[in-house]
Amino acid sequence: MNCRYDGTNDGRQSYIRMVIDNFTAKRQCASENGKQFHAAMYEEVIGALKKEVAAPVIKAWDKSIGDHSYYRYVCPECENVLRPSTRGKYCPYCGQRIDWEENVK
Ligand SMILES: [Zn+2]
Repeated sequence: MNCRYDGTNDGRQSYIRMVIDNFTAKRQCASENGKQFHAAMYEEVIGALKKEVAAPVIKAWDKSIGDHSYYRYVCPECENVLRPSTRGKYCPYCGQRIDWEENVK
């Protein structure tokens, strides 16, 4: 994997994944060495970074509308309904970065 951030969105995404892997290893190491304080800090960093990795929006069939073909878009992290009209880069509820490209054409 290319570990350098090349300035593109894809580059940033793979860079963040690399950092997450790195901190996951650090957390594991700290945990095994009984450094719970450090392990907890790494856990916080990992949790924040994971929200920066774009997750594909969930396209869910909305049964409440009856027979009409109606989908709603749901955050893959907190499962709150997202507005497709705004296509926000981040979920307004939990801050998860949303990838609209996967399911929304
Ligand atoms: Zn969310």
